[in-house]
Amino acid sequence: MSRMRRVWLQSLFAGLAWTTGQYFLLAAEPLDRPGADESLLAQAQMIHAQALTLDSHVDIVGPQYATPQLDPGIDHPRLKCDLVKMAAGGVDGVFLAAFVGQQARDAEGFRRAQQAAADKIAAIRRLTTMYPERCALATTPEEVEQIVAAGKRAIMIGIENGYALGTDLSSIGRFHALGVRYITLCHNGHNQVCDSCNPAAKLGDRETEHEGLSSFGRQVVAEMNRQGIMIDLSHAAASTFRDAVALSRAPVIASHSGCSAVHSHARNLSDQQLKLLRSNGGVIQIVAVGGFLKAPSPERKKAIAELARDIGVSERDFAAASKEQQTRFLGEMAKLDQRYPPASLKDFCDHIEHAVRVAGVDHVGIGSDFDGGGGVRDFNNHAEALRVTVELLRRGYTADAITKIWGGNLLRVWRKVRAASDDRAQHRG
Ligand SMILES: [Zn+2]
Repeated sequence: MSRMRRVWLQSLFAGLAWTTGQYFLLAAEPLDRPGADESLLAQAQMIHAQALTLDSHVDIVGPQYATPQLDPGIDHPRLKCDLVKMAAGGVDGVFLAAFVGQQARDAEGFRRAQQAAADKIAAIRRLTTMYPERCALATTPEEVEQIVAAGKRAIMIGIENGYALGTDLSSIGRFHALGVRYITLCHNGHNQVCDSCNPAAKLGDRETEHEGLSSFGRQVVAEMNRQGIMIDLSHAAASTFRDAVALSRAPVIASHSGCSAVHSHARNLSDQQLKLLRSNGGVIQIVAVGGFLKAPSPERKKAIAELARDIGVSERDFAAASKEQQTRFLGEMAKLDQRYPPASLKDFCDHIEHAVRVAGVDHVGIGSDFDGGGGVRDFNNHAEALRVTVELLRRGYTADAITKIWGGNLLRVWRKVRAASDDRAQHRG
């Protein structure tokens, strides 16, 4: 999504978390809703105690992450993922994304992108040195298992947008050395690697540019295979997806995407792509961004537009509104959510179910996109992760299937990617 849209959504979602304080309710009244079932919650807790549970995509808010200004060691009101909420929801590990927004593809743009990625990687690594007794950096599936067995949270690093690679293949090895274990080939806007599913008109993008991977992108895929870095195709155009799956010697992932058969959206995967993932041995990690999961009803859309107009805030530039306007808007939004419910945990699980039906239970996982626009009613932060498991149990999923979805599949793909890399010795250290 665009920078502004991101800022708007982050403000909106953070604001809603403050006003509703949903995650504080978990301990007191975990499932105090119609149909709640204490025995399902007990089963869910048991599954989370035994399974290795991973979320493949969470954003960090900025380079100030993991400083006293933005401390993920506390139950932070601005964060949907922090060490406290992960522990409360029984989430063992998370890939934190060093996100870089698409800008001009010139020397200065590439230099800035590399620096931005390096700064965010440093911030993610800083978390593990701030709280060495509570979390640790994992660079292999075996390390994930050891860290989790020691009772800590495993922190992994992904780069979101191959723009950060510049035009020099050796940057892939440098990022690998810093602990990067997946790279999302593009974001919003075509880049030097491939076509995006969302061309950026403001950067002069046409509908297609490379018709998939560029010739540099083909080298990038080969080098990522060689280094043992997972290829992430969320945000990629269908043509890029097709090329990367055909070329890659190892399974691929979509770290945070939904299913377009459930809700048609550029960011979601078609059934044909889900079947390709199945034959490739890869995994789709279902995203919790409401806009990808469900179309807002016309009534809700109209009501939001009217509210924004009445209060004088702009959906495109929420940050430009005064503090007072923002507070009023968020307060009214909470009421509006009651009247016209936005996407919920049930919608999220509908996408999981569809992906399981088409791709198979061995090819589906969870990538919330928390702190980057993700978060739906009843799965709005990691403290609510048990609710996902309860809903899957309610739908008849077995503990074995849930264990695969909550991380088993992603770990299998990661192991395959490492096994397929040419030079295993350099990854053993
Ligand atoms: Zn994204």
